[in-house]
Amino acid sequence: MKDLNDTIDSPIEGEYTRRDFLTNAGKGILAATVLSSIASCTADAQEGGSKSPTDKDIHANSVTKPIELKPLEDKSEKPQEPLPAPLEPGKRVGFALVGLGNLTLAELLPAFGACQYAKVTALVSGNPEKAKKVAKQYGVPEKSIYSYQNFDNIKNNPDVQVVYIVLPNSMHEEFTIRSAKAGKHVLCEKPMSINSQSAQRMIEACEQAGKKLMIAYRIQYEPNNKKAKEWTRSEKMGKVKVIDAANNQNQGDPGQWRLKKALAGGGSLPDIGIYCLNTIRYLLGEEPVQVTGTIYSTPNDPRFKEVEETVLFQLQFPSGVLANCTTSYGVHDAQWYRCYADKGGYFGLDPAFSYQGLQIDGAQVQDGLDLKLKSSAGEKNQFALEIDHMAQCVLQDKKPFTPGEEGLQDHLIMEAIYESARTGKPVKLKKIDKQDAFRGTSPDDLKIA
Ligand code: NDP
Repeated sequence: MKDLNDTIDSPIEGEYTRRDFLTNAGKGILAATVLSSIASCTADAQEGGSKSPTDKDIHANSVTKPIELKPLEDKSEKPQEPLPAPLEPGKRVGFALVGLGNLTLAELLPAFGACQYAKVTALVSGNPEKAKKVAKQYGVPEKSIYSYQNFDNIKNNPDVQVVYIVLPNSMHEEFTIRSAKAGKHVLCEKPMSINSQSAQRMIEACEQAGKKLMIAYRIQYEPNNKKAKEWTRSEKMGKVKVIDAANNQNQGDPGQWRLKKALAGGGSLPDIGIYCLNTIRYLLGEEPVQVTGTIYSTPNDPRFKEVEETVLFQLQFPSGVLANCTTSYGVHDAQWYRCYADKGGYFGLDPAFSYQGLQIDGAQVQDGLDLKLKSSAGEKNQFALEIDHMAQCVLQDKKPFTPGEEGLQDHLIMEAIYESARTGKPVKLKKIDKQDAFRGTSPDDLKIA
C-alpha cells in the first residue's frame, strides 16, 4: 500500500487545506490510505505510543492536516494565524527530560502541552519521589523513570528518541555522551558546557553515534526576535551599526550551583550574558573578529567567591558593527537590546530574553516625523517552538538550526572575553566569512503541513 506521505505531502510548502484534502479524496486517491493511517494512529495512541518506531518510521509518518475555519474578522485586520495541526500522540517524537529542577518543572513540562510534534515519554532524576509525582502529573509510566545511575538503560526504551538535558552545566557533557551511546538524539540546555574542549567532545560523541545534537537557544525560535533579525538583515531602517544589549539578574542564595565554578563553569557571562552574545550573532549572522572584556566582582560578597558578578564586553564584527554588552548577577533584572541603524531609526526588544511579554520597540523618522514603534510579532511559547524544532528535525532527518557547533562558537567567544578581561587587551578571533556559519536547517524550511 502507498504511504500516506507519498500522496498527501512530502513535505510541501505552505498548508495542506481541507479543500485540497476533499478534492484529492474525491479523486479516490486518498480515502483508503487515510483511513488505514488513522486506524494505525489510533492503535498507537491506545498503546501509549509504545510501538517502538525507528527514526525511519517516524520520517515516513510525519503528516498532519490543518483544519480550516472561516476567518472571524474583516480582511483589513491582521490575518489569522493558521490553526495548529498537531501530530497524533502515537506519531510524536518522544523526549526524556533529565533533571527535574526549576526550568523543567516551571517551563518545559508545561510547554509540551503547546507542542505539536513532541511528547514527554521519560524522566531522569536523582530524586525518585519527586520523579514519581511528576510522572503521574504528566502521564509518564513509572517504568520510564530513570536515575542518574541507571540512565544508560534508556537505550532499551523505544518510546524515547530525544534526551533533553536540563542539568547544571558541568553535567551536560557526561549526559550528552551517555545519551548518544544509548542511541538517542540530544537537546541540551545552554550554555552547552563549561568550556570549548568539552563542547567539542559533545559534538564528536554525537557525530560518532550518528545522532543529532541541538543547543536549546530558545531566542532563535521566538517570533519577535526573528522579526528583529529580519529587520536587521533587510536594513529596514538602514544598516545597523551599533547594538547595545543587557541581561542582568540579581542572584540570591550563595549556595546554589550557579555560583559554584565546578558546576557552572563561570558566573553571569555563561549563564545570562550568553543571551546578549548569542542573540547578536543571530541578528547579524556574522561572527565577531575581536572582543574586549572587563570583569568586576564585589569583594567579600559571598555570592561571588568562585564566579564573576559583572562582565562588560564588546564585540567587533567584520562588517564594522560594534556591540556593547552588559551582564551582571549583582544588579536588578534587565533584559533588552537595541539596534541603531543609519537611516533615521532604531529598534530592539525590551524585554528581549524573558519567557513572556516580548515586544519590539523603536523609533523611525518618516516625512520629518519622529514615529515611535511598538509592535508584537505574537506571543508563542518559546520552549514549545524550540522543542518542536528538534522533533521536526528528527521527523525530517535534518540538522537543527542551533546545533552543537553554535554552542561551541559561543564558548570560544566567551573564552576570548575572559582572556581579554584577564590580560586587559583586546583578543582577536578567527575571521569567518560565511553567513550563519554554524547554523543548520532554518525552522522556516521545516514546516510540516
Ligand atoms: P535547577 O537547579 O533548578 O535544576 C537543576 C536540576 O538538576 C536539579 O533540580 C536536579 O534535578 C539536577 N541535578 C543533578 N545534580 C545536581 C547538582 N549537583 N546540583 C544541582 N542540581 C543537580 O537548575 P535550572 O533548571 O534552572 O537549570 C538547569 C539548566 O537549564 C542549566 O544548564 C541552565 O543554564 C539552563 N537554563 C536555561 C534556561 C533557558 O531559558 N533556556 C533558563 C534556566 C536554566 P533532580 O532533583 O531531578 O535530580
